[in-house]
This record gives sequence, C-alpha cells and structure tokens, in this order.
Amino acid sequence: MLQGTNQESGRPYNRRLVLEAIRIHAPTTRGEIAAHVGLTVQTVSTIVRELEEQGYVLAARDEPKGRGLPPTVLRVNPAGGYAIGVHVTPLGIGAALVCLTGDVVAVLRREGRGLGPDTAFRTIGELAQELKQLRPGSRILGVGMALPGPFGVDTMSGVGPTAMAGWENVPLQARLHEATGLPSFFETDMAAAALGERLYGIGADFSDFYYLFFGVGLGGVMVHEGAVLRGAWGNAGEIGHIPVVAGGEPCSCGNRGCLERYVSLEALRRRGIPDAQWLGEIEPVFGSAITVIENLFDPQTIILGGMAPEPLLQGLAALAERLPGSVSARSDRTAPRLLVAHGGQNSVLSGAAALAVLGTLSPRHGQMFGTASEAGAPQAGDIAA
Ligand SMILES: [Zn+2]
Repeated sequence: MLQGTNQESGRPYNRRLVLEAIRIHAPTTRGEIAAHVGLTVQTVSTIVRELEEQGYVLAARDEPKGRGLPPTVLRVNPAGGYAIGVHVTPLGIGAALVCLTGDVVAVLRREGRGLGPDTAFRTIGELAQELKQLRPGSRILGVGMALPGPFGVDTMSGVGPTAMAGWENVPLQARLHEATGLPSFFETDMAAAALGERLYGIGADFSDFYYLFFGVGLGGVMVHEGAVLRGAWGNAGEIGHIPVVAGGEPCSCGNRGCLERYVSLEALRRRGIPDAQWLGEIEPVFGSAITVIENLFDPQTIILGGMAPEPLLQGLAALAERLPGSVSARSDRTAPRLLVAHGGQNSVLSGAAALAVLGTLSPRHGQMFGTASEAGAPQAGDIAA
C-alpha cells in the first residue's frame, strides 16, 4: 500500500489514497485505514468527512454485537460517481455506464464495419450523451476508450483480422474529449481489460499478474505493481505473435507459426471442431505459451480473460494440472497458475471505464494516463482539485 504525506500540498493525493484504501479494504474503519496508509486517525477522519460530503464514501454503523457502540464502517458509495467505457472494434462500437464499484448500469452498441475516426467519434459522443441521461445530475468521472492493439507497429497494425484502417496517428485523447466533453483516457483493449480486472475483479488480490486476453486474436499484458508494464511503445507482452511452431502456419504479421494462429477464438472457428477436442489439440502449444509467460514475467498468477465464453476459459484453466514446469513452481505459492477473469463478456467495456476511474481517482495512475485537468475541466467536487 502507498503511504500518505504530511505536506499540505499532498492533500489531494491523500484523498485519493484514502479513497483507494477504502475501496480495497471495505468494509473498513478509520483506524484501519490510518494504519494502511500511514496517516494519523485524525487526518484520516478529516479526509473521510470530506469524501462523505462529496458523496464518494458511505459511513454506517454495523449492528451492535455486544456492549458499546460498534465502530462506523466505511464503504465506497456505488452512486458516488459513474464512468463511461467505450470499446471500438472493427465490427462497431460498444459503450457502457459503470458505477463506482464496477457494476455495469447499461450497455449500448452500434454495429458498423470498419468505422473511420470521424464517424466513430460522432457515435461515441451520441452514446455518451445517452448514457449520461440514465443518471441525470450524477457525477460522471470521465470516459475511457479501448481499441485493438498493437499501436503503431508497421507490419502488424494495418493487416489481419483485427486491423482498423484510418486510425493511424489519430490524437485519441483529444478527439475523445472533444466528442464527450469529459476527462478522457485510452488504452489497448487488453490493457483496459487487465486494469478492469485489477480494479473490480480477482486482479484486486494480485499486484503482479499476467492477463491473457482472448479477443479475435490473442494478446496479453503484464500488470506489475498494479500498473500495466508498457514497454517503450506500449506494446509489451503481445504474446500472440510469439513464434511457437517452427515453419508453422503463415500469420498476418509476416512470420510463421505464431501462437495466435493456434490459440485464439479465430483459430477455434477456423478449425471448426468441438471445444473439448480443440483444447486437447492445442494443449502442447498453450502449455509452451504459459511457460514462456511465467519464465519471462514471474507473475503471481495468469488470469485468462477477454471475449471468450467462460466455459472455454474454464477448459483452458483446467489444463493447468498438466502444464510443463517453470519458475512458477514454488513451495510458497498460494494462487493457482491459471485463473479465469471475473469480467466476462463486458470485460473490455468495464475495463475502459476503469481507465477513467483510475485516471481521475487513483493516487497511482493519475499521471500515467494524463490528468483530469489536462483532458478536461475538473467538475465540482472533483477529488483531484
Ligand atoms: Zn504473427
């Protein structure tokens, strides 16, 4: 856990820190929070009062269990703020309104193959407007956009089943802000899904995990100390194009035998066989991939997620019992090698919304995605102010 600061200039940071601590440890008490973040109970109490007044936090007394008053228990107020998540794909646009504790309030979709940026941002503006009207008068923290990666790789971005023509060199954050008027953030679909899992799902239990993302192709990101490990150009961890079969099937990236030619929803469709049979067929290749990931990144666990149906992900997770060895074989290991994400089919949409929550409220991510004040005027009662 990050520690608070006693500097007066650190007050907004401390507010974010206390809010995050309440989110992670809820239901919790002022005393517990003070111990977690290294501030006095007095300082924490002042901050909690502010957060309560701003509507971010709910404080309530538990039922009395014995003599004396039970302590006041703190929780994040689900209606304390909403975020909009947008997912742009080669097949259309999805948008969701997500409450502060991660529940999806509504999902809207617009079909449209190969939408260019102008049409897409106009549509996103309309969808955001429609979603905002579902909670009139509520605080909308911001909007996060997820789109297929990798970004800016000449031989990969313009070709293949996930290609998006006309999206090269688009100033995404500025266009998103222009379209919605909200603080704006963006990431690859897999990084968004991973951060959503970290904020709302089983990823909350791990500071270091690899998220293996089943989209049309196969991707993934390493979350290290709670943040996405990006590499120089934000494409680190792109597992789908690791060559696993020498002289194997040709791939849209120009190489042969790439992992996603064998392990992906597209590969399963192309193969046209029942899931169980396919799982048996890909087991050796999948096992190599998991071993590569573990030996490279040394994660606490690997979370399987993305757009694949849950029974398929469960089938893959079940292969964990027969995986080859790696640095993951530790006597002090507590988590399984493979886990299934909690996010389900909305994982990218809620992940995109998580970008806005992290970007505006988290002490860790505030600078990483650009701050609220860079991307749009902070609203009344903004925690960043
Ligand atoms: Zn490839």
